[in-house]
Amino acid sequence: MRIGLYPGTFDPVTLGHIDIIRRATALVDRLVIGVAINRDKGPLFPVDERVAMIEAEVSGIAADTGTEIVVHPFENLLVDCAHDVGATIILRGLRAVADFEYEYQMVGMNRHLDENIETVFLMADAQHQAIASKLVKEIARLGGDVRPFVSKAVRDALVARFSGV
Ligand code: ADP
Repeated sequence: MRIGLYPGTFDPVTLGHIDIIRRATALVDRLVIGVAINRDKGPLFPVDERVAMIEAEVSGIAADTGTEIVVHPFENLLVDCAHDVGATIILRGLRAVADFEYEYQMVGMNRHLDENIETVFLMADAQHQAIASKLVKEIARLGGDVRPFVSKAVRDALVARFSGV
C-alpha cells in the first residue's frame, strides 16, 4: 500500500491544489492531504473550515479514481506527520522558479530528518499553474472575480468572509 502525503496550508483550497491532488491519485493508493494548522501564517480560514472545504472538493476525485483520500490536520514536523499517517512519499506542487528555492531547502532538511521519505514534485496544468491562495484572497478581498481560480463553494466562502456575512 503506497501512501502519499500532500501537505499545505490550503487557505483556501484552489483549482491549482485540486489539479495536483488529481495527479497525485495516480501515484498512490491512499492520499493524505495534510492541512497545516497555522505555521505562523495567520490563515484566513480556521483549520476545520479548510478541512471541510477540501473534503467537499475531493469526494468526487476519490470516487472517480478509486484512490482513498483522507484530510488530516497537523501541527507537528512534516516528517513526523508522514510517520503518523504511514506515508513514504511527500507530494508537493511546483509553480514557478520562485517555489523552487524554498522547496529545495525543505527537501534537503527533511532528508536529514528521514532519508527514507521521498519528495515528489508535480506540476499543474498550464491554466492552473499561476493560481496561488494568497492572490486569490487578495482578489476576493478587493471584490474581484475569483471564479477562474476556485470552486463555487470556495468562492461563496470567500465572498461571505469578505462581506462580513
Ligand atoms: P504552503 O503554505 O505549504 O506553500 P499551499 O497551500 O500554498 O501551502 O500549497 C500547498 C502545495 O501546493 C505547495 O506544494 C504548493 O507549491 C502547491 N501549489 C499551490 N498552488 C499550486 C498551483 N497553482 N500549481 C501547482 N502547485 C501548487
